[in-house]
Amino acid sequence: MILIMKPGVTEQEIKEVIKLIEEHGLKPHLSQGKERTIIGAIGDESLIRNLPFESYPGVEAAVPILKPYKLVSREFKKENTVINVEGKEIGAKKIAVIAGPCAVENKECLFSTAMEVKKYGAMFLRGGAYKPRTSPYTFQGLGEAGLRLLKEAKELTGMPIVTELMDPRDTELVCKYADIIQIGARNMQNFRLLLEVGSTNKPVILKRGLSSTINELLMSAEYIASQGNQNIILCERGIRTFETATRNTLDLSAVPVLKQLSHLPVIVDPSHGTGHWDLVTPMALAAVAAGADGIMVEVHPQPEKALSDGSQSLKPEKFEIMMERLREIARVVNREI
Ligand code: PEP
Ligand code: MN
Repeated sequence: MILIMKPGVTEQEIKEVIKLIEEHGLKPHLSQGKERTIIGAIGDESLIRNLPFESYPGVEAAVPILKPYKLVSREFKKENTVINVEGKEIGAKKIAVIAGPCAVENKECLFSTAMEVKKYGAMFLRGGAYKPRTSPYTFQGLGEAGLRLLKEAKELTGMPIVTELMDPRDTELVCKYADIIQIGARNMQNFRLLLEVGSTNKPVILKRGLSSTINELLMSAEYIASQGNQNIILCERGIRTFETATRNTLDLSAVPVLKQLSHLPVIVDPSHGTGHWDLVTPMALAAVAAGADGIMVEVHPQPEKALSDGSQSLKPEKFEIMMERLREIARVVNREI
């Protein structure tokens, strides 16, 4: 339920409404704009549906939120959310490009990739220190040593770090190094993990699950937001279908659909979305044309030697070409890179 307060509402009137919401076991969410004060009542709406909110002095209208997700819904907040990470914005006019290797493998590989992607205009550096691998016998990531290398790469290039958190027990450790926490596709419905990152104040990239609907993605975002952290970036990274020509089927229609349903920024990962390096640029261009606020791509100096996801990783020189072409598309859709 959203309670739209009258212009000139008093503190006392706001307090009374908040008290009423709390008495019924829901959480009030106060948003005081320039012109209007809005109070969201978050929780089981059936508990307050019949309350006479509109007979309270400061309340102009009580509007039910029809969607099962509340805080992340466009109904709840009309304006696009812009997330600021050390002065770099995601969700504003500039397209956020996040680039780097799938995994942090060693210092040399990470640093050279970081410097190259920075040179061509990447805004953030990605790299996994904890990798969710299908086989327990393949490279699982360097753990904390990988996080330390990411931090050094940030000092070298000035690019904030995006890295995956897989286990709620590592939250504090990963938060110490990461500027943006990635929740991977396989963990999109790890609800304990979502609650954990929801209790931090770190921006979170939430990747769509391998077989998840858009509604399920938004419900997972709601888990994070429900704990107070609303710095969430939604990421389309392809879903499982009957198609085998690509690793996943990149659902680009998810971009405008998510933009309609939610105020959160939306980015696209064409690397995992396609699984093939030569499909990454065309789908990155299409993602920006479709209205994505950013893209996340894997880059590796020697993809044939990569310890994970080499086949979908761009060489730095291909990344440079992608960036040049992205700039042209961005201009056409009134964005920048
Ligand atoms: C990744 O970004 O390297 C990754 C494992 O992504 P996803 O969770 O989308 O498979
Ligand atoms: Mn990967």
